[in-house]
Amino acid sequence: MELSSATLYIVPTPIGNLADITLRALTILEQVDLICAEDTRHTGKLLSHHNITTRMLSVHDHNERARIQTLVAKLEEGQSLALVSDAGTPLISDPGYHLVNGIRDAGFAVVPLPGPCAAITALSGAGVATDRFCFEGFLNAKSAGRQAQLSALKSESRTMVFYESPRRILSTVTDMAQAFGDDRHIVIAREVTKTFETIYGAPAGELLEWLNSDENNRRGEMVVMVSGYKSDDEGIVPEVIDALKLLASELPLKKAAALVAKLYGAKKNALYKLGLELDL
Ligand code: SAM
Repeated sequence: MELSSATLYIVPTPIGNLADITLRALTILEQVDLICAEDTRHTGKLLSHHNITTRMLSVHDHNERARIQTLVAKLEEGQSLALVSDAGTPLISDPGYHLVNGIRDAGFAVVPLPGPCAAITALSGAGVATDRFCFEGFLNAKSAGRQAQLSALKSESRTMVFYESPRRILSTVTDMAQAFGDDRHIVIAREVTKTFETIYGAPAGELLEWLNSDENNRRGEMVVMVSGYKSDDEGIVPEVIDALKLLASELPLKKAAALVAKLYGAKKNALYKLGLELDL
C-alpha cells in the first residue's frame, strides 16, 4: 500500500482483543514516520505484539495543543503521522480533537480509518433500536451534574449511548431509573471483545437488582444503552408535563393546558385531564 506523505492518519486500535485491528491499520502504523500515542507504553505493547518498531511521541489531553506546532512542522517536511489512543477510535471520548482541527486548519490532509469503537460494537449486539441513536459519552462524575444531564434527556426519543466507569455504574443506573422511570429498558455491555464479555438488558429497576446481586456485574469497562422515550399519541412527553406543572402553579388549569397545548402541539383536553389526575 502506498502511503501519502504530509498526512495525519487516524488509526483505531483494539478495545480488548488484540486481533481486532485491520490490515490497513497495521500497514499504516508500520510505515508512518511517527505514531502520536495517548500513552506510549500502552501502545508499545500493541506495536511489539505486531513487531512494529515505528517511533512514538506522546500526545494526550494535557499536551495536545502544545504539540500542534511541532507536528505541523513535521508535516511541512513531508512526514506522515498516525494518531492512536489507548483503545478504540481516537477522538471518541479520547484525545485528538484539537490536533485534528489544528492540522486541518494548517491545510494538511487528515485521513480517518474505520475500526473498533466500543459504542458501535456494543450497539450492534445489544438488541436496542439502532436506526436513530445519540452518543452522550461520559456523564458528569458528580451526582447533581449527572442528574441534571439525565433530566434534560427525559424525552429524548433516540437510543442513548453512554460510557461509564465501574466505580460509578451503580449510582448512574440509580439516577437513570430516577430520571427515566423503573420501566425504561437499559442494556449494559461490559468487557466487550474480552474474556468476560457480558451483554445484559432489563428495565431500569431490574437492572439495578442485577448490578447489586453480584459485584462481578459491576466490573470492567462498560457501555450503557438506554432506549429512547416513546411518546403517547397525545404528544405528552415528560417536558410537556413539566411545563404543565409549572404553568398550572401560576394559572388556572384550563388556561395552563391551553397554553402548553399551543407551545408544544399537544392535545388541550388530554392535558387538562392529566392536570386533574395529577391534582394540579
Ligand atoms: N475511544 C474509545 C472508543 O472508541 O470506544 C473510547 C475511549 S473511553 C476513554 C473508554 C470507555 O469506553 C470506557 O470507560 C468504556 O465506557 C468504553 N469501553 C472501552 N472499551 C470497552 C470494552 N471493551 N467494553 C465495553 N466498554 C468499553
